[in-house]
Amino acid sequence: MVYKFFRQKLAPSLARCLLCGGTSGESGICSACTAELPLLGNGCRHCALPVAAARNSICASCLQRPPACTKITAAWQYAYPINHLIQRFKYHRDLAAGHSLIQLAARQLGPPREAPDLLTPVPLHWRRYWQRGYNQAQLIASGLGEDWRLPVALRLLRKTTSTQTQSQLNRNQRQKNLSESFAVHGQIQGAHIGLVDDVVTTGATLEAITERLLDAGAKKVSAFVLARTP
Ligand SMILES: [Zn+2]
Ligand SMILES: [Zn+2]
Repeated sequence: MVYKFFRQKLAPSLARCLLCGGTSGESGICSACTAELPLLGNGCRHCALPVAAARNSICASCLQRPPACTKITAAWQYAYPINHLIQRFKYHRDLAAGHSLIQLAARQLGPPREAPDLLTPVPLHWRRYWQRGYNQAQLIASGLGEDWRLPVALRLLRKTTSTQTQSQLNRNQRQKNLSESFAVHGQIQGAHIGLVDDVVTTGATLEAITERLLDAGAKKVSAFVLARTP
């Protein structure tokens, strides 16, 4: 689905706030509801995990094992009502919710101070793509790219195998398995890549893709997501 089409199709349905039903602005969520969205607050400098200490700190797990992905920037905490909006967008074809999230996240997250050379979405395996009819990360990447005037490479990454149950494997084997389930198609020598996804939980997927991108010659990988689970 092309982002422009997605946006045009939604324009008439955005007059009412998705959360309170009041008069909304262009984003589809009124300013009062926007002000109450769960911001992330102090996050780890690398992985955006909320940390108690002051700004610019690093969480225990990133200190122990510095991540390959330089920086994950998340717009919100994965908490009410952001979690509901993301679920509506992702699993219930609620594209109005998606549109609002993207508009607000573009303002919340950027434009980034250190802009990547291009944005690219975390891919879905084709089987999942056919079930859902769209990849929410593609729509987010297109929306952010348009707002920030950055190029978007929609098909740079491919998910080649659907990831199976990995409970018998140890952490390193799991990570290797996950990394091998992604493939890079394109020239990215020396580029700073901005990976885009909806939610980051453990960060394992972003980390696996980052390893792939660095192997393929990328200079640096950072990530932009709508929400971070605490
Ligand atoms: Zn409202
Ligand atoms: Zn961290």
